[in-house]
Amino acid sequence: MPELPEVETIVRGLAPLVRGRRVESVWGSGHGLHLARKVDLRGLRAVTTGRTISNVRRRGKYILIDVDRGRDEGVIIHLGMTGRLRVQAADSARAAHTHVVFTLGGGDELRFADARRFGWVAPGRPLSSSEALAGLGPDPLTDLQPPALAEALGGSRAPIKAFLLDQRRVAGLGNIYVAEALFRAGIHPTTPAKRVARRAAELLDAVRATLESGIARRGTTLRDYVDIDGQRGDNAPALLVYGREGEPCPRCGGGIRRRVDAGRATFFCPVCQRR
Ligand SMILES: [Zn+2]
Repeated sequence: MPELPEVETIVRGLAPLVRGRRVESVWGSGHGLHLARKVDLRGLRAVTTGRTISNVRRRGKYILIDVDRGRDEGVIIHLGMTGRLRVQAADSARAAHTHVVFTLGGGDELRFADARRFGWVAPGRPLSSSEALAGLGPDPLTDLQPPALAEALGGSRAPIKAFLLDQRRVAGLGNIYVAEALFRAGIHPTTPAKRVARRAAELLDAVRATLESGIARRGTTLRDYVDIDGQRGDNAPALLVYGREGEPCPRCGGGIRRRVDAGRATFFCPVCQRR
């Protein structure tokens, strides 16, 4: 599933392709997307047609497309597990599983395809207070600061892994980058959050280093993720522990372990990340 670095890579690639372009029409396949919900095509058309895309931004794992600068309206996209965005010539064949298409002035289309249909495309009006975005916590790269993180950690008994995955606490992290950040910080994934409150600055440094590594290598492709040009990300070989069960720990040489918590796999080094 795309996490912050993958979404950031897509946003950076998409923005120059669509900024300043007018949306002429919106097409939908008629299939439901996330949780089989119908796409609000009427709402998407009302927000975008005849308007000009002014910016593309990221909020947590959401992609936000702003229209008509200063308007606080636009499109909210979540890639789910297999969602893909491409900008392609309107007369080129659409990929299988294409579910939403924005026709742009100049003869291109912004296409959203999603084989498993866990993704989501919705109008935001207003964008800033939409339900999806309202509950999101601070962005770990740009908003979160050590004192605020220390305070939040101090008030939580949740395991640190669950704390970091909770989008209301920190927006944008998922299973891969949480495992990597906890390894970098030397923290066992099941440690209660309040017990690492004193190490908030160190933990935040580890989270940021992990995310910046992912962005620098244009995202992690394990299976499905591709960028706006259809290219795989280069970060998978740079992962330190995720997906490396039984391989030597890059720090101590011991074996990386895998455990499953709440149905999700966790990778860690039992020597470098003691409880
Ligand atoms: Zn180790």
